[in-house]
Amino acid sequence: MQKPSNHYKFIVLGAGMAGLGAGIALREAGEIGLILEKTDKPGGLCQTQNILGCDFDYGPKLLLLNDSENSQEILSFLNGNYEKYPVQESVYLSKYGFVGFPLQRYLVDLPEEERKKILDDLNYAHEHPKEVKSFKDWLINSYGEYFCELILFPYEQKKWLVDLDKMDYQWALERPIKVDKDEVLKGSRETLPPNRWYYYPKHSNITALTLPITQKVGKIQFKASVKSINLKEKSVTVEGKKYYYDYLISSLPLDYIASITTPLSSEFKKYSRKFLNRLGIVVINLVFQGNYDLQGTAIYFPEKEFVFRRVSILENLCPVLKRKGLTPISIEVSVNPEEKLNKNELLKSVLESLAKIEQFAQLGTPIGFDFLDIEFAYPLQVNGLSEFVNKLHEYYALYNVYHCGRGGKFDYCNLDQAYKQGKDVVQKILK
Ligand SMILES: Cc1cc2nc3c(=O)[nH]c(=O)nc-3n(C[C@H](O)[C@H](O)[C@H](O)COP(=O)(O)OP(=O)(O)OC[C@H]3O[C@@H](n4cnc5c(N)ncnc54)[C@H](O)[C@@H]3O)c2cc1C
Repeated sequence: MQKPSNHYKFIVLGAGMAGLGAGIALREAGEIGLILEKTDKPGGLCQTQNILGCDFDYGPKLLLLNDSENSQEILSFLNGNYEKYPVQESVYLSKYGFVGFPLQRYLVDLPEEERKKILDDLNYAHEHPKEVKSFKDWLINSYGEYFCELILFPYEQKKWLVDLDKMDYQWALERPIKVDKDEVLKGSRETLPPNRWYYYPKHSNITALTLPITQKVGKIQFKASVKSINLKEKSVTVEGKKYYYDYLISSLPLDYIASITTPLSSEFKKYSRKFLNRLGIVVINLVFQGNYDLQGTAIYFPEKEFVFRRVSILENLCPVLKRKGLTPISIEVSVNPEEKLNKNELLKSVLESLAKIEQFAQLGTPIGFDFLDIEFAYPLQVNGLSEFVNKLHEYYALYNVYHCGRGGKFDYCNLDQAYKQGKDVVQKILK
């Protein structure tokens, strides 16, 4: 019997990097699939906003790639249109100005006396480790209490907006930025060379990557916001229209998926509300009149007196984003997605914070700006999160539903990993 036209062997939810990765793998395997995407553009966070002729990428600004096959595949989509740069980020401290990031690798940038206090305390922490129950304990054991109080606690608190002793630490074991004790000691004596690299298109912006990938995936249905999933019927509903699948691959945030799925036990729903919490980010993109010789690429701000946690000077990060007569700057502030945000107030605080720093004070008032609400910037790492996510994934797999990407795995990942997760899930199913 012929299958109805709204039946697909594979349906993929979301056309961000994870959904696009799944689309590529389906194409490579000669399989027919349909990608359902809520907005009218592909890429998810890998898109670009334009203000007064300046390009601002939504989330990712760097292609943090390595020698892996996956990284090489991603670069191949750029067809030679890329440049490689060393990662040279910084931290701003009112007392000492710009110092290296992560600061525990660049202690040489601090005065001798401060360095000594940090190293004494680090030695003490390593000789008398605490029992690790939370992210806070993990930070103290890794870097010592003094450095934590000075830099890490205020920064992480500003980033996560929750008490650090309520956060799990397991995820920190796998995150890329870790500095072991030997490196801390070495970096307290000499300026260490960069140890990470990134790529960025030589022409255009991050869409130089998104668009060629999109051309190689199968059919994408835009403006298709998925509203419900019926596991028994193997169907998804989009604005009243039903699509049927054999396999469903979702890159949408797991908390949302759990809220629209039937059947899903009240137990699963209850724990989804408990464990699956997100942290949002508002990105404030500003354009100032004139060109300035600004220091820094991505600058981190641990201190409370600055409302933002990161400021990116786009032309220093990626030369192609430089504009004659204009200076584009991108600023990230963590927000609780539950709380209503007064954007005018936020902009005012951001400009007041900028004015406290000499090099930004000269920029004056922006001539253009816009806000980007990133509702799912990071999953909140609470104790028990990964175990719960695994259980939920196992349940969905019983019904041929699989998850990938930041939202689907409910874990932080870079864009290259999101792409790979999408590809891997298809390859796993086809096996
Ligand atoms: C502030 C920030 C900075 C970052 N910087 C970097 C960086 O420098 N380098 C790097 O490699 N990575 C970076 N990342 C991470 C990177 O952006 C992500 O890992 C990657 O882009 C995620 O891809 P994804 O497909 O998992 O999710 P997304 O890009 O979020 O894609 C999900 C897609 O699903 C769609 N969707 C949502 N709801 C529905 C629905 N109901 N129905 C249909 N479709 C729906 C969305 O519109 C979207 O297109 C950054 C992330 C953030 C938040």
